[in-house]
Amino acid sequence: MDLKSNFPFWLVKNGLMAAYPALEHDEVCDVLVLGAGITGAIFAERLSREGFDVVVLDRRDVGQGSTSASTALLMYEIDTHLVELTKLVGRAHADRAYQLSAASIDTLEQLALHSPVDCGFRRKRSVYAASTEAEVPDLRAELEARLACGIRAAWAGPRELSEQYAINYPGAIVSEAAASCDPYRLAHGLLQQAQERGVRVFDRTDVTKFTPQPAGDACRVTAQTDRGPSVKAKHVVFASGYESQQYLSERVVKFKSTYALVTQPLPSVAPWPEDCLFWESSRPYLYLRATDDRRLLAGGEDDDFHSPTKRDAQLGAKADKILKRLQTMFPTLALETEFAWAGTFGETKDGLAYIGRPPELSWGYFALGFGGNGITFSAIAADIIADELSGRPNADAAIFRFGR
Ligand SMILES: Cc1cc2nc3c(=O)[nH]c(=O)nc-3n(C[C@H](O)[C@H](O)[C@H](O)COP(=O)(O)OP(=O)(O)OC[C@H]3O[C@@H](n4cnc5c(N)ncnc54)[C@H](O)[C@@H]3O)c2cc1C
Repeated sequence: MDLKSNFPFWLVKNGLMAAYPALEHDEVCDVLVLGAGITGAIFAERLSREGFDVVVLDRRDVGQGSTSASTALLMYEIDTHLVELTKLVGRAHADRAYQLSAASIDTLEQLALHSPVDCGFRRKRSVYAASTEAEVPDLRAELEARLACGIRAAWAGPRELSEQYAINYPGAIVSEAAASCDPYRLAHGLLQQAQERGVRVFDRTDVTKFTPQPAGDACRVTAQTDRGPSVKAKHVVFASGYESQQYLSERVVKFKSTYALVTQPLPSVAPWPEDCLFWESSRPYLYLRATDDRRLLAGGEDDDFHSPTKRDAQLGAKADKILKRLQTMFPTLALETEFAWAGTFGETKDGLAYIGRPPELSWGYFALGFGGNGITFSAIAADIIADELSGRPNADAAIFRFGR
């Protein structure tokens, strides 16, 4: 699958941060983590901390899947409003999904703090604006639902939005639990830390086939690679992003295309406060954040297809549209696009990730953080799957299970 078009900002900014070998010999381990993006890196760090013997494999270079294309707004806010999610999955699961998402920002902060590579993690506030006056009542009801489940947030009216955020919107939910980072650097940092604990990381190595081992063998599965050698493992964690659907009998994701850009650096991103993330209630939504080097990073304009050819053809026009919207929002800034890119994106029926073991596989666990906040879902997935692998009960597993 072609996961991205053009050069995402993080790749251009950081280049090839570290070299990893391809797999040239057979390996045996407790857990094979398939995928060395941000999800695989979070798992490598977590499982090695818990004492598992781990091998990580990736068919691309480390971090060069969707992770390098991510705009990395770290938000507790799931694409499906809490009010809607409650109707879909019930109050208890909906509230808990929001609470876990808010807590996952703290988890990511701790991971970033202990990572040997600085990934520019910054605590921020999120501003979720009503795109039109007609959407204000729904957003106010949404705020009440979030407050009732313990989320720290407040309402900002048009005057406050204009004076404090320099934006012209009829109202917004302003939340405390938010952050941003460079996800490519975070993935490299966590893998480096995991390597120091004995995790073996191999890239440019494609897993072409999984064969279950005969009953009684300590390892339950063999992963065959395109380079010849194989990996025998007790368990596999599929941190393989949007390329994971092929391993599942249940259809869990609908693919889309999404577009993003960064501007040239500015003397200052003011009047936009650089410690805030922005997104809005219309669908598809526009979202934006500042980077550490004072650029605006923005995205949106999603399409309901994921044909790379069609996406490439649209990229210039989509980037122009996003820039035009930014320029209208902030007329005093002289904005120019420096890089624009597009990526494959996935949505689930309720906006929640799929996490855990599907009924058809006794040895495979999936960490599929599909949706607008995939990175926070990856942090939640690491808690749930680490518990399952360690035989600890985890009451949250039911929220994200297959077959729901
Ligand atoms: C433009 C864009 C903007 C986004 N913005 C945000 C955002 O603001 N906030 C947010 O939280 N999320 C965002 N996301 C989503 C987020 O980027 C993803 O959830 C996240 O990057 C997924 O990471 P991952 O490690 O699971 O997947 P990936 O980074 O794709 O890693 C999976 C890896 O698995 C490897 N792999 C797959 N199959 C095999 C195989 N058979 N053998 C070997 N290797 C294999 C792939 O090569 C790949 O490198 C955005 C996504 C895009 C495209």
